[in-house]
Amino acid sequence: MSDVDEGFDVLKEFVIDRGTCCGCGLCVTMCTKGLIAFDGIPKLVGECTECGRCNWNCPRLPSAETGEVIPSVPKAENATEDELIGPYNELLGGEAVKNEILERCQDGGVVTAILCACLESGYIDGAIVTGIDPGHPWKAKPMVATTTDEIIAAAGTKYLYPAELSMIKKAIKESKLEKIAVVTRPCGAQAVRKMQNSDKKAIQRMGEKVKLLLGLFCMESFSDDFLQKEAAEKRGIALEDIKKVNIKKDFIITPKAEENVVIPMDEASSYIRDGCHFCADFASEYADVSCGAVGTKEGSSTIIVRNNTGKEAVELATSNGWLSTRTVSEKALKVPQALSKRKKEHAKPIPSR
Ligand SMILES: Cc1cc2nc3c(=O)[nH]c(=O)nc-3n(C[C@H](O)[C@H](O)[C@H](O)COP(=O)(O)OP(=O)(O)OC[C@H]3O[C@@H](n4cnc5c(N)ncnc54)[C@H](O)[C@@H]3O)c2cc1C
Ligand code: SF4
Ligand code: SF4
Ligand code: SF4
Repeated sequence: MSDVDEGFDVLKEFVIDRGTCCGCGLCVTMCTKGLIAFDGIPKLVGECTECGRCNWNCPRLPSAETGEVIPSVPKAENATEDELIGPYNELLGGEAVKNEILERCQDGGVVTAILCACLESGYIDGAIVTGIDPGHPWKAKPMVATTTDEIIAAAGTKYLYPAELSMIKKAIKESKLEKIAVVTRPCGAQAVRKMQNSDKKAIQRMGEKVKLLLGLFCMESFSDDFLQKEAAEKRGIALEDIKKVNIKKDFIITPKAEENVVIPMDEASSYIRDGCHFCADFASEYADVSCGAVGTKEGSSTIIVRNNTGKEAVELATSNGWLSTRTVSEKALKVPQALSKRKKEHAKPIPSR
């Protein structure tokens, strides 16, 4: 069977029904006929013509021909190979410089600072970020941002699976962007690389419009109804009054005016996406730059620069006054490596077709 002429039923049988879908949303982008909607899982909403496009770059669908799930990406020149957190050129700690970012961001505001600097300088002409759905507080809403205000408004982690890559279609077709930054989880970074490494020229060209791939560290993601059920219904916290959500072993909810509320991870774990149990990537090993909280002090981010694109983006942010960084030793990798190891040891293998 060829990978070319298969329909949505292949995704359904080998990914969705097996619970391996990570909710990246790339299949939504890939269906040029607009037949795939994402509502927690991808759903077919019209008559599939079996063009096969939605199958080609799914990061959870092994190739029928080779069995390969994710292509191996050649490591950048002079990169240090680390079997736990992936290849890297440089390890940094850092914080955004501007208060408007520090007030909204999750950790050091590094992701937002890099995006703003890259947009301002023309390195990118827009970014795919994830904000909040105004009608449904704490439901994640992926979006195409073309101003620094929009990028800053979307700062902060939503521990959810927003199908962020579904926005690549909008960025290219509607916003007509040519140099896109994508902020995504490790699974999303794998999907983008799969697209960029496609043997189909049109798909490769589409992938090449992703000029900058910013990956977040990620241990797991949770379903949209988590906060509704655990924070609002069980604990009486009004969702629109939540200022920040963080994970420090357990979930910590910071309401605007009250004390923090802790939701034990034991209670939260039933909301973890099934597809996360098949995930062996903690540190966004396929990104140009990876950012996370662990490995650095509170209010700061760990920055793993993996290649020249990542280096250019971080340098733009520091030289244009958006980001402050310092070199950190390999000791900073101890915790990310330990979490990565745990994830790799516990990940279930993706079943073959
Ligand atoms: C599901 C999830 C799990 C995570 N788990 C860990 C962990 O276990 N350990 C750890 O150290 N770090 C984890 N992180 C990363 C961490 O929470 C911060 O996002 C990271 O440290 C960057 O902080 P920052 O202040 O630089 O980002 P900010 O400047 O605040 O920017 C964050 C960016 O991420 C985007 N974003 C928010 N939510 C999502 C999402 N769900 N998918 C895609 N993009 C999104 C925002 O739009 C924004 O552009 C996780 C992130 C996610 C999304
Ligand atoms: S028509 Fe859409 S849903 Fe059907 S195979 Fe092509 S991309 Fe997939
Ligand atoms: S993993 Fe991504 S591309 Fe694959 S079915 Fe799920 S949302 Fe679609
Ligand atoms: S644990 Fe893996 S599959 Fe789940 S959201 Fe994070 S990167 Fe994606």
